[in-house]
Amino acid sequence: MPVADDQISGLPTSSNASDAAAADSASAPEVSSGGGQTAQVTKASSATPGDSADTDSASGVRDPQRLPLPEATQPLQVMWRYVIVLSAVHLIAMLALIPWLFTWSGLVFAVAGHFVFGMLGITIGYHRLLTHRGFTCPKWLEHGLALLGICNLQDSPARWVAIHRMHHQHSDHQPDPHSPLASFLWGHVGWVVCRHKDLDTTRHYERYVRDLLKDPFYLRLERGDVWFLVYVGHALLLTLMGGVWGLIASGGSWAEAGRYMASWFVWTVAVRTVFVLHGTWAVNSFAHFFGYRNYETRDDSRNNWMVAIFTHGEGWHNNHHASPRAARHGHKWYEFDMSWWVIRTWEMMGLAKDVVRPKP
Ligand SMILES: [Zn+2]
Ligand SMILES: [Zn+2]
Repeated sequence: MPVADDQISGLPTSSNASDAAAADSASAPEVSSGGGQTAQVTKASSATPGDSADTDSASGVRDPQRLPLPEATQPLQVMWRYVIVLSAVHLIAMLALIPWLFTWSGLVFAVAGHFVFGMLGITIGYHRLLTHRGFTCPKWLEHGLALLGICNLQDSPARWVAIHRMHHQHSDHQPDPHSPLASFLWGHVGWVVCRHKDLDTTRHYERYVRDLLKDPFYLRLERGDVWFLVYVGHALLLTLMGGVWGLIASGGSWAEAGRYMASWFVWTVAVRTVFVLHGTWAVNSFAHFFGYRNYETRDDSRNNWMVAIFTHGEGWHNNHHASPRAARHGHKWYEFDMSWWVIRTWEMMGLAKDVVRPKP
C-alpha cells in the first residue's frame, strides 16, 4: 500500500522514455499463428527453459507447487500495515451480519459502488487504461477513473500498474509476483501481505511505470500516501451521505441518521471494498487455475465465467493474456464483457479513442 517518500524520490519526471519496459512488456505478446480456434502465442518475456509451469499435457494435471515463491519474497516477511488495514476492512464487512446494520439504501449503493468504483475504477481505469493503454481518453476522465480506482483499497495507481505489468511480463514464470502455481492462496492474497524486496524500489517504478509517473498527478498520489487519504476521504463522504439519506428517510430522526451512517459505512464502504478486492484477487488466482483456454499462451491463464461475472469481464483472462492491450476481453459471442461495452459506448460518444481490439 503506502510507499515511502524516499523510495520514489528518484522517479523520473522528464520526457526521457528510453526505458519503457513496462508499457512494452505489458503490451502484448504477439499472436503469431492461428490454427482453428487456437493461436500460438509468443510471450514477450525472456522465460528460460526449465522455469515453465505449464500444464502437464499428458495427464492434464497441474502441480500447484511447481513454481516456487518469487525469490524476492525470501525470507518471507509479513507486511503488517497491509495485514492490519485489510483485516480491519474484512472485520468491518462482517458486521453486515448484524440485522440492525442493514438498510436497503446501504445495499443498493454497495451494488452501485461495485460498478462505479470496481468496474470504472479498477477494471477500466487501473487495468485496461493505465496498465495496458487499451484506449486513450481526456485527462479529466483518466484521472477521474484513477481516483475511482483508489476507492477500492487496492494500492496507488502506480504500484498497482507496476505489479500488473510485471505479472504480464513473467506470468506464471519466475519472478511473477502472484502466480497461483506457487500456491493458490499465495496467488490470491499471500503475495499482497508478504514483503517483496523489489516492488517498492525506485528501480521497479522506473522500469514499469516511468510513463505513468511523468504525469505529476500520479506522482502526487504516491507521496505521503495521498492515495490512502483519498480512500479514507471517500469512506467518510459515503458514510456522511448515508447519514443524510437516513435523516431524510426517517423524517428527521437523528437516531436513524446514525444507524444509516453505520449501515452505509459497513455495506457501501466495507462490504463493497471486500467484494471488489476478492474479485481482483480472483483474477490472479482462479483465472490462472480454473477455466478453459481459447489460446495456448505460455502462462496458465484461464477464461473463468464466474470471475468474469463478478469482475465485469476480467475473468476472460486467457483471452486477455493472449491479447493484453486489447480493451475487449470477451472474444467469443458468449463471453459477455460489460467493461468492453462501456468503453465501446465511450468510443461511440467520442470520449474513448485509439481503442485497441483483439487481433483476429
Ligand atoms: Zn494473469
Ligand atoms: Zn492485464
